Amino acid sequence: MTNCIFCKIVSKEIPSEVLYENDHVIAVLDINPIHLGHALILPKKHCNDFLDLPEETYHSILQAAKIVTLALVQSLKLEGYNLFSNNGTIAGQSVFHFHLHITPRYRNDNIRFVLNLKEYSGGDMKKYGTMIRKFIKPPAL
Ligand code: 5GP
Ligand code: ZN
Repeated sequence: MTNCIFCKIVSKEIPSEVLYENDHVIAVLDINPIHLGHALILPKKHCNDFLDLPEETYHSILQAAKIVTLALVQSLKLEGYNLFSNNGTIAGQSVFHFHLHITPRYRNDNIRFVLNLKEYSGGDMKKYGTMIRKFIKPPAL
């Protein structure tokens, strides 16, 4: 994709601090980190978001995430970390080339994902289960 900043990172058209790469994925440091060491895992092939991910990249993305997370834990002596992905503008996605964030966490680091948790009432949990299950499409064998 011509105007995608992450495709430009993949093609090395723009510089980045590469932590790891193989044929399918590249892991770089985020330019505006939550904590220093905050990493991003990107598939090399452009895809907009999670639902757009080609199946052949699933394994490489999780494998790279594990390799990089272990390196972060060991090099920065982490006790915790978050893995997350924002998908869609309203979910906070700002770069529309799928990526997984891995960010270090520290005791008392004052970072909070502000949530307003809800409760299911009556038969709502069952209702939601039924509604969602109708759209579950297991992969073809
Ligand atoms: P999103 O908001 O889509 O979940 O995450 C996009 C991330 O990409 C942000 O955390 C942002 O700091 C990072 N980012 C944006 N532009 C660049 C760039 O040119 N280089 C690097 N390394 N990270 C970038
Ligand atoms: Zn791209």
